[in-house]
Amino acid sequence: MTQGLFIIYTGHGKGKTCAAFGQALRAAGQGLRVCIIQFVKSRACGELTALEQLSGSTGSVEIHQVGSGFSWRDKEMTRFKESALAGWQLARDKIGSGDCDLVILDEFTYLLHFHILSPGDVLPVFTQRPEKMHLLVTGRDPGEELLDAADLVTEMREIRHPFKKGVAAQKGIEW
Ligand code: ATP
Ligand code: MG
Repeated sequence: MTQGLFIIYTGHGKGKTCAAFGQALRAAGQGLRVCIIQFVKSRACGELTALEQLSGSTGSVEIHQVGSGFSWRDKEMTRFKESALAGWQLARDKIGSGDCDLVILDEFTYLLHFHILSPGDVLPVFTQRPEKMHLLVTGRDPGEELLDAADLVTEMREIRHPFKKGVAAQKGIEW
């Protein structure tokens, strides 16, 4: 009876990645095989460490961090593109293999935003995935085509963020 859903967590408020990892936790707890591919970011975040520790005792959670960090400098941008495309290849392999029940592409929308990939590149892969596979994409501004294709879209709306009053990112809250 499983109906694979295409889910998007988007918006400019905080909580998209946290919500995606919460979803991973729930799925793993139900014995689902989860694969998380985290784009853009390259530093160790608490959620990665915690999930790695949990893996094995719950369902399986596979995590790949494919980001090279991000910077506007040309050289860095080239590296960003290369690692993003390698991440996309990995995502296609995972989606195509059918070995996972839930695939999470965290911060994926930035690849569209920076025209590294187009909706025409990604939508066929997303829509032709195995019928029972859930797919979760996070990131700001996914664009109309992705939004239209999704079964479930949640927008995190910023009401207040401590960054605005100069409070630095807090360990355990931001990373
Ligand atoms: P989180 O990883 O905490 O779930 P997110 O995935 O929704 O946040 P991103 O757009 O991926 O947010 O941004 C990553 C970082 O930027 C997070 O550390 C987050 O706290 C911070 N951030 C998110 N929204 C805002 C905002 N509106 N103003 C300033 N910083 C923000
Ligand atoms: Mg995020």
